[in-house]
Amino acid sequence: MEKKNEALKEKSTENICKLTVEDACKLLDTNANGLTSEEAKRRQQKYGRNIISEKKDKSPILVFLSNFTGLMAILLWTGGIIAFVADMPQLGIAIWMVNIINGIFSYWQEHRAGKATEALKKMLPSYTRVIRDGQEQQILAEDLVPGDIMLIEEGDKISADARLIASSDLQVNQSTLTGESNPVRKAYDPVLREGLSRFEIPNLIFAGTSVSSGTGKAVIISTGMSTEFGKIADLTQTLKEEKSPLEKELDKLTKQISIIAISAGVIFFAAAVFFVRQPLAQAFIFSLGMVVAFIPEGLLPTVTLSLAMAVQRMAKEHALVKKLSAVETLGCTSVICSDKTGTLTQNEMTVSNLWLLDQEFEVTGLGYAPEGKIIAGQQEVSAANNGDLKLLLTAAALCSNARVIPPKEESERYTVLGDPTEACLGVVAKKAGIDVDEQSTLTPRLRELPFDSRRKRMSTIHQLEKPVEGCRRIAYIKGSPKEVLELCTGIHRQNRREELTDEQRARIMEANDKYARNGLRVLAVAYRLMSQKDNLPAALSAYTPELVERDMTFIGLVVMADPPRPEVAAAVEKCHKANIRIIMITGDYGLTAESIAKRIGIVKGEHPRIISGTELGNMSDEELKEALKDEVIFARVAPEQKYRVVSNLQEMGHVVAVTGDGVNDSPALKKADIGVAMGISGTDVAKEAADMILTDDNFASIVRAIEEGRAVYNNIRKFILYILNSNTPEALPSAAFLFSRGGIPLPLTVMQILLIDLGTDMLPALGLGTELPEKGIMDRPPRTQRETLLNRHIVIKGFFWYGLIESVIALGAYFFVNMLNGWPNVPLASSGVIYRQATTMTLAAIVFCQIGMVLNCRTERQSVFKVGLFGNRTIMRGIIFELLLISLIIYVPFLQEIFQTAPIGINEWLFLIVLPPLIVFVEEVRKAISRRYFKIIRK
Ligand code: ATP
Repeated sequence: MEKKNEALKEKSTENICKLTVEDACKLLDTNANGLTSEEAKRRQQKYGRNIISEKKDKSPILVFLSNFTGLMAILLWTGGIIAFVADMPQLGIAIWMVNIINGIFSYWQEHRAGKATEALKKMLPSYTRVIRDGQEQQILAEDLVPGDIMLIEEGDKISADARLIASSDLQVNQSTLTGESNPVRKAYDPVLREGLSRFEIPNLIFAGTSVSSGTGKAVIISTGMSTEFGKIADLTQTLKEEKSPLEKELDKLTKQISIIAISAGVIFFAAAVFFVRQPLAQAFIFSLGMVVAFIPEGLLPTVTLSLAMAVQRMAKEHALVKKLSAVETLGCTSVICSDKTGTLTQNEMTVSNLWLLDQEFEVTGLGYAPEGKIIAGQQEVSAANNGDLKLLLTAAALCSNARVIPPKEESERYTVLGDPTEACLGVVAKKAGIDVDEQSTLTPRLRELPFDSRRKRMSTIHQLEKPVEGCRRIAYIKGSPKEVLELCTGIHRQNRREELTDEQRARIMEANDKYARNGLRVLAVAYRLMSQKDNLPAALSAYTPELVERDMTFIGLVVMADPPRPEVAAAVEKCHKANIRIIMITGDYGLTAESIAKRIGIVKGEHPRIISGTELGNMSDEELKEALKDEVIFARVAPEQKYRVVSNLQEMGHVVAVTGDGVNDSPALKKADIGVAMGISGTDVAKEAADMILTDDNFASIVRAIEEGRAVYNNIRKFILYILNSNTPEALPSAAFLFSRGGIPLPLTVMQILLIDLGTDMLPALGLGTELPEKGIMDRPPRTQRETLLNRHIVIKGFFWYGLIESVIALGAYFFVNMLNGWPNVPLASSGVIYRQATTMTLAAIVFCQIGMVLNCRTERQSVFKVGLFGNRTIMRGIIFELLLISLIIYVPFLQEIFQTAPIGINEWLFLIVLPPLIVFVEEVRKAISRRYFKIIRK
């Protein structure tokens, strides 16, 4: 039934492209005022939500079972079988149990990591602007229904299939559907031509595509799985996720260690058979113990989990990371290319000054509340008694799209829908007593040439109430003063147009520079009366910027303040300490950029080099690289030029993070190692191209994310170091047994090795993945991407330094029991209770050393007491679990049988209790020495 309805609907809308706008709306039972909220609700019940239903995940059972088929698992299964064959059923069962526990543990960690990333996806909702109940509203894209009137503009992702009912220079990128990456022109006129494929029809737009430029209004035809995108969604959902560099590195690491482990196993096997003459099965089990001792099982899932947890922490700090792999790259970031407006500054524009050739004004009041005065000298001025001022403010306000929404309740603030630069223009007009709504009714807008960061300006064309100098239409333009002034041939003074002289041009730029030097943002406003004589095309849709934006008459300057974000200066300072460079790349004027850059400490020198977009265009790559070695600011650049800066920095060996918000920023965002899109002001296209999205548009959030990125990598290192520590004490007792040709009875059995690796070590290790960024982590230079997880430092520290200390202690514990029982006067016990007590002590000593070690691994250089010795709850829980487990193994008879243990006495316990503080003490001394030494070399 449902299917039939869909088919019917599709049939009836198949020819919608041929209808007029009115008929198309009628067919979908809607009109220019949009649906009512009730109707929208009713339709949602009928057609469902506008979502592409997710393809079913892999069967959880298969995912679960995949944890039991890895190299390590197969070894253990085989080991279990051999134990059974060799008539050691208890050992066989135990080995299998260990395997099962390990599998469940890995599955649980992966599951948690998966849940965390899934939650993250939900944090990126997509919104759409629609007209409902006759008003423009922003709704969740999934709430769109057929018949909704949707508004689109440059950078928007299109969320449903729709028929255009209005458009202005609209171009759409349909590459997701057609593979063709050049933007396609779209227009609302009926299409009668036959033989076009659906995607070629100019008045149809499709879900999953995006707006490259222009604006439009469209009526929704179909949503969710009935859209063209929904129909092919199956294909895209089968795309495989790439492994991240860290995952690849870990794979490699696990393989390398496995090879070491298996080689050690083979050597031990051969030695056991030929040197000690052990039976084959026993020798195999023995060497299996060695292999297990070395293989870092649980490494991958723990790493994935700690990445996922970092991603969750970052999300709370306003940085949404789209891929886990981005976290690690963040840690290596050595340059951040940041734009200015909104990222370093608050993007809360307030007009502070107005400038006409003959008069300057100050504007009082802060924010978007229309409360404040326009003052010239000491006197309050209003638009009513100053024609030039009225024209300046009316033109600026009418050439804007943003709306200011008054507070809904007492406590709420004024909010902005649209571009803040435009919003403040409406506010200042109101302060001067201009009724903007009335003005836009008197001179209705006919056409818009939208703002474009390459042109750095925007124009609108209006119908005049009555002809002026024989002209019926007027174009208003506002934009960057340099760009606008280049188009002006006249100046408006004392209510009339004069020719613009060079001297006047110079005065205008002088005024612009004066404001810019104080970090203010300046827009120039101009107009052009359009007459029949201008030979403009008849159809408004044929107007282009080249035809309209010329021969303009300059009116004045509007000056706005956009203060730096208060937290940015500290974040910049942090970056400098961390040897991370910040390069400002802005579309704004050089002097404004320089002033802001100095204020927040991005540049320190008196005269940093400012490279303009034009200059950059004329530079060779070599010259650019040379310039990038010093302090530099890029100003008045087009977004496309960011790409060049990023790729040159990368060629210089940097790991680059770059911010962006517009469609044209996408190439740079994709090229960068970390593309950062703005969550509030960013377009959907930029968000899609980015690796990370800032939900507060704030530069400081990037720096916090870098800090997390560094911390995660360090945590993984801490984790690896911790599990390596216990490898040597696990292997050395067996070596002692072998090389003494059995003279030293085996101090640690295979079952006991398994217990340490897969039982007691696991949970505390997990806690290391949750450590918070260490103090001083941002006082070091970034790690290079070449640096590997398992470096010489870790190998020496893990295997040789702590490994040997632990081995000596473990063997010491073994001999301690024997000594208490008469050794060396009697031979070392090789069976019976004393032997069991001795092996129990070797095992327990390693476990107790590892308790101290996990606390040591929490910090790299800082004293662990600084972060609170017991501060990590996951680790503390792990330690308690570990203590419980070892006590059970020592005291529960059935476990004693499996693990070959025996109860120990008070002397033995005293020996054990001393170990964790001893291990912590030794490491604290090492850290203190390393801190001092480190300081000396830094000086
Ligand atoms: P950043 O690149 O740091 O975000 P920006 O906002 O100044 O700074 P663009 O958005 O590329 O960069 O704008 C370039 C210039 O265009 C601005 O400096 C300003 O002079 C002008 N401009 C910005 N917004 C508008 C607008 N809505 N209408 C007209 N001109 C604008």
